Amino acid sequence: MDEFIRLDGVTFSYEDEAESIPALKNLSLSIGRGEYVAVLGHNGSGKSTFAKLLNMILEPTEGTIYIDGEDIGREDFTEDDLYRIRRKVGMVFQNPDNQLVATQVEEDVAFGPENLGLPREELQRRVDDALARVGMSEFKDRSPHHLSGGQKQRVAIAGVIAMEPACIVLDEATAMLDPQGRKEVMRTVEELHRDRGITVIHITHYMEEAIRADRVVVINDGELFLDGAPDEVFSHVEELRSVGLEAPQPLELIWELRRAGVDVREVGVSGEACLSVLKDLLSAKK
Ligand code: ADP
Ligand code: MG
Repeated sequence: MDEFIRLDGVTFSYEDEAESIPALKNLSLSIGRGEYVAVLGHNGSGKSTFAKLLNMILEPTEGTIYIDGEDIGREDFTEDDLYRIRRKVGMVFQNPDNQLVATQVEEDVAFGPENLGLPREELQRRVDDALARVGMSEFKDRSPHHLSGGQKQRVAIAGVIAMEPACIVLDEATAMLDPQGRKEVMRTVEELHRDRGITVIHITHYMEEAIRADRVVVINDGELFLDGAPDEVFSHVEELRSVGLEAPQPLELIWELRRAGVDVREVGVSGEACLSVLKDLLSAKK
């Protein structure tokens, strides 16, 4: 696969007055163009630090990051280069209220692309298109502050996609939403990935969200802990538990059954697969 992001031995330490706090330790990772990656990890494992490095809010203490083949830490990197990279890698954060800047939805979405010096019609096209993509066109004249959490996040996503990025990084963007809002955001992100081939990096602590990705990366204590397809990663139930994470509930159940001595066959991560195993078990009992 065509590589879009590469980290080579990246270390990042926060410098406090007295101490240096290592948040990422010698992390090497490659993410392909158009890949959909979920990132999991216990609180404080370094996920947000990782996200901020990709968007150049932070710079590595050691190591190199390549975005779209470009070394973003090179010496002759200019401010223009920085804005170019930020247009390629858009960020959506946890709290939608902190990302909304205007008093009208449409203006809010236009805020980023307005600075690109686009012709008026192109700007309008991008804003209309972005709002349509996230299903928020009918709210374009509204005040963002009166929207639900899920709607606000979708407006924030529209603001990012109006910049036409190649990649979106969502840092626990569903964490503050109710189940309906989470569903709306997930659907929006999945459509962007499927229809536009946007690279998605979805940092989450919801296992049901992570199983929908092509790949799951688990970070623990600033280091890469597991990396693979959801089926593969979530089969490591004990390892996940050892770092404060759980496999999705249906898998946990299958795992517990097996530990209790029940002969259960291997299943994938989907609820349907687990259901079929349980049905088999129950009918065998009769
Ligand atoms: P996560 O997003 O996985 O919860 P973070 O990347 O926010 O993890 O944090 C990783 C580590 O860095 C934690 O130990 C955290 O306390 C520390 N850390 C995060 N931000 C700062 C900061 N601004 N100053 C000092 N330490 C920080
Ligand atoms: Mg975080």
